[in-house]
Amino acid sequence: MEADARPVSKASAWREARNVAARARLDRALPDIFPPLVLRHALAQPLLPPTPRLAVESYWRVHVLRADRLARGLAARSGTPEGWTWRLGAAEEGLGMGFRVPPAPFRERAFARGKGHCCVCGQPVYRFGWHVDLWGAGAPNRNAGWHAACVAAWKLWNAASDHVRILKARQRHRCAETGKRLLRTAEVDHRVPLYRVWREHRTAPWPVLLGYWGLPNLQVVNRTAHAGKCALEAGERASHRRALP
Ligand SMILES: [Zn+2]
Repeated sequence: MEADARPVSKASAWREARNVAARARLDRALPDIFPPLVLRHALAQPLLPPTPRLAVESYWRVHVLRADRLARGLAARSGTPEGWTWRLGAAEEGLGMGFRVPPAPFRERAFARGKGHCCVCGQPVYRFGWHVDLWGAGAPNRNAGWHAACVAAWKLWNAASDHVRILKARQRHRCAETGKRLLRTAEVDHRVPLYRVWREHRTAPWPVLLGYWGLPNLQVVNRTAHAGKCALEAGERASHRRALP
């Protein structure tokens, strides 16, 4: 065998064949107008998304920090719905079960904006879950209930630990509490703990509230520093409970 002869592994042959088929499918389904950033992203993926819809989802999954900013920006456009306050309660009513779930007025039956509107941010949804009417449709896509960006943001808000890698990189791998190098076991933390958001900030305008689940309030800290912060918070909660009548 020659020194530079590289045997094609079964896996890479499979991937190549799969990507050729996926590219053909994507090309067939791709409309004339499509966000160029999303297309560029799709074509660079090791496993090419075979539909425009999957290309959009893949884009926001990778650019989750951008999705977070966008979702909060769209929420700011909607504003706090008239008469809405953050309440905890029954899931059937669309209410969050506890203060760890970000408030979502447009998921509540009383405030839902109906088909074609995003239940996270309240704004109209267009083709492929996009947030801008690039196609000049003039009306939202009535089959859609989410923006692809808002789905990615919602996942970040509810399970920030799943995104520890990207959050670490954003801090240049430095612990937000101590400034030391982040270790492999570092953990995601809410700078302002969510119980305090509920206790002290729950009357803030809804789009501002969302910031407590998003980037402005997320940090990665080393485990020992995190344990110390959690212990302080637990003590603070206990003394607050004791002080209650
Ligand atoms: Zn949305």
